[in-house]
Amino acid sequence: MILVTGGAGYIGSVTVERLLEAGEEVVVLDNLFRGHREAVPSSVPFYRGNIGDIELVARITRAHSIDACIHFAALAYVGESVSEPSRYFENNVEQGSALLRALLGAGVRQIVFSSTCAVYGEPREIPISEQHPQQPVNPYGWSKLFMERMLEGYDKAHSLRFVALRYFNAAGATEQHGERHQPETHLIPNVLSAAIGSTAAVDIFGNDYPTPDGTPVRDYVHVADLAAAHLLSLRYLSEGGCSQSINLGNGNGYSVLEVIETARAITERPIPVRSQPARCGDPSILIADATKARELLGWSPRYSELSEILRSDWEWRIKNS
Ligand code: UDP
Repeated sequence: MILVTGGAGYIGSVTVERLLEAGEEVVVLDNLFRGHREAVPSSVPFYRGNIGDIELVARITRAHSIDACIHFAALAYVGESVSEPSRYFENNVEQGSALLRALLGAGVRQIVFSSTCAVYGEPREIPISEQHPQQPVNPYGWSKLFMERMLEGYDKAHSLRFVALRYFNAAGATEQHGERHQPETHLIPNVLSAAIGSTAAVDIFGNDYPTPDGTPVRDYVHVADLAAAHLLSLRYLSEGGCSQSINLGNGNGYSVLEVIETARAITERPIPVRSQPARCGDPSILIADATKARELLGWSPRYSELSEILRSDWEWRIKNS
């Protein structure tokens, strides 16, 4: 059985969906701070609580025979982490550390960890491979890097094996699940909300980055492709694979303005924009070299084009608006 922390969140709920389709048994632990209870099917055992609640994690591992854990549960807003770093260190690192201790105590030694390209910081070269120096530029990135280091320590000392999946920019929707955070800070949901008319305009944070059009460039990767990589990582670990950190991205970069233009073409709606100062902690360009994911895991993303990713989100949003 697989324990999924944060299984009621955006990437977590799609991964649970895929695990069930693959015939896996799943149990979810989520505090529902930014997740949605209805995103987890009622057939899945669900525990509402914090990952740092060692007694609760011990209870879950006693009640179910857990082979591996996919650990998503975390705060994940770059801007919020800059203004409220202590929340990120408490939630992601202190509670994450407690979770790892509880899992080790229960003999769970295979972990797929939800990491991020924010562990690299401002890139020194593009595309970014896993060997790129790790110098985060915001507390969110640091909180994930600390967890990666902890996992490495537990690997050496206690033979815990892990795959840290460093996502670039998760986006898109499946038929059942899409991105709906409250508050929403991510670009694509904000762009499509403006297209629907539920917000007046999209804020463009900064226009003098060292990029071709002055707005930041990101590598958008479909949430279903991310979910698929988690299943491949579980298989890799269950077959005895050693610990790895692996980038997940398409290797294509799109600027904020390109995302907005593509969204205008797909939605055939006007999308008003507003210029705003740059957000603190936003690197200018993040594009993945995801060769390792393809070679080691056999990962091959089905949605490589931004337009397909946007279209999936748009269709989901229209259906659910
Ligand atoms: N962004 C923007 N307007 C928004 C949300 C985001 O201009 O309403 C920009 C943001 O500054 C960043 C890029 O879009 O450069 C992607 O931001 P997002 O929050 O989606 O992901 P991040 O890369 O921060 O994880």
